[in-house]
Amino acid sequence: MSEKIPTRDVTPDSVGHHTPHAAASPGAVQQEMYARRRHIYVREIKGLFQRLRRSANWLLMLAFFGLPWIQWGDRPLIWFDLPSREFHIFAATFYPQEFMLLSWLLIICAFGLFFITVFAGRVWCGYTCPQSVWTFLFIWVEHRLEGARNRRIKLDRAPLGLEKAWRKGGKHAIWLAIALATGLTFVGYFTPIRQLVVDLTTLEAHGWSYFWVGFFTLFTYLNAGWLREQVCIYMCPYARFQSVMFDADTLIVSYDAARGEPRGSRKKSLSHEEARAAGHGDCIDCDLCVQVCPTGIDIRDGLQYECITCAACIDACDSVMDKMGYPRGLIRYTTENALEGQQTHILRPRLLGYLAALLVMIGLFAWAVSDRDLVGLDVERERGQLYQMTRDGRISNIYTLTVRNLDREAHDYRLSVSGLPGLTLDTASLRVPAGESRLEVIEITADPAVLEQPSHAIQLHLQSQQNEEIALEHEARFLGDVRR
Ligand code: SF4
Ligand code: SF4
Repeated sequence: MSEKIPTRDVTPDSVGHHTPHAAASPGAVQQEMYARRRHIYVREIKGLFQRLRRSANWLLMLAFFGLPWIQWGDRPLIWFDLPSREFHIFAATFYPQEFMLLSWLLIICAFGLFFITVFAGRVWCGYTCPQSVWTFLFIWVEHRLEGARNRRIKLDRAPLGLEKAWRKGGKHAIWLAIALATGLTFVGYFTPIRQLVVDLTTLEAHGWSYFWVGFFTLFTYLNAGWLREQVCIYMCPYARFQSVMFDADTLIVSYDAARGEPRGSRKKSLSHEEARAAGHGDCIDCDLCVQVCPTGIDIRDGLQYECITCAACIDACDSVMDKMGYPRGLIRYTTENALEGQQTHILRPRLLGYLAALLVMIGLFAWAVSDRDLVGLDVERERGQLYQMTRDGRISNIYTLTVRNLDREAHDYRLSVSGLPGLTLDTASLRVPAGESRLEVIEITADPAVLEQPSHAIQLHLQSQQNEEIALEHEARFLGDVRR
């Protein structure tokens, strides 16, 4: 629910954290390394960008909370199974050996972030960053329990009474419940969540499950409930280095000082033209843009690294402009070039460079994923024993095989060995379900007469009986004593 346009009530407590630099210059702003924190009472506002932001937030939360509950066959749709070292993502299963793919994915994310930042500034922070999403959710709860901004200020100043106790207690209880759901869901990406919930409630879960759920519950509660904008301002490295990616054509939330100054109150009966003729700029100095800012800054002071581009100040100022009968856009998404009356270049070499790198990486990644082997094999010799003699005088070597089925269907694999004449194998075939791996201990024997050296290279062959294109060969060493 939006509140009425406020009269200017610039008391230190009521406007939250004011930066100490009130000049309306869009250039450099002197910042302190660490300013004493003042509680920010964020005012709720409605508008186009807040609708967009909330839609993005709800969608992301729906995905985060919902995905671990969805099953894919007999396993979760997304499951990072650390003990088995298997990472199930939709139909695909990845293993640590495919770590390269993960590296590529991270590089793609990095280039994606660079591209978005050069194009649209910190739009990631304002619309999709988990810190912002959860902080907005916690503020939403606060608003429902403690009321609009002015009521919250009053409530905080009031002595502890029954009403204050239940409102504050209720807020923290709901915050903790959301934090617990978040912690549980996060752990649910690593342990099947349906079983996890049952185990936790029946007190049969592993101790580490309680620890990690508790850890992420506390982490969420502190970050979104208490630290809030402090994470963005002091802890997030992205906030610090993103400014080097900005250029004069990057989309930023900006106050149009040329149009807004000189700011100041005026009679509401004055039309826009009359106010301009009387020497007024369009800013009525109502402070609403400051009161809605989740990081407590005044966008009229110029571009600041605390700005997470949430556009709340745009919606706030537009609502003021509507009420005054002035054109919208005193605060708007724009570029430095546009503000200076110059042309904005959307397609520029830097942006195209990031886009090209991004497309190449996505193409390579897609090719690597589609071309990945659908079967994997690791071979490990038995430790502590080089070889042994069988009763019939043959030399025996023991190996442990790990066969990974990366396909969506179960496979029966035929196993064979070559590299020396007369090699025998005690296991001819094995079955591995879709997306799983299987350990198998096998014995390979050879006639000592064919051994010409202590160590021979041999080849193990795996061939799917369902699909002849799924096959691989793996080299191993066969050891024996040539003196025999
Ligand atoms: S920029 Fe807009 S919202 Fe901010 S003080 Fe001026 S008129 Fe009010
Ligand atoms: S200055 Fe505006 S866009 Fe930036 S964080 Fe504050 S409200 Fe959001």
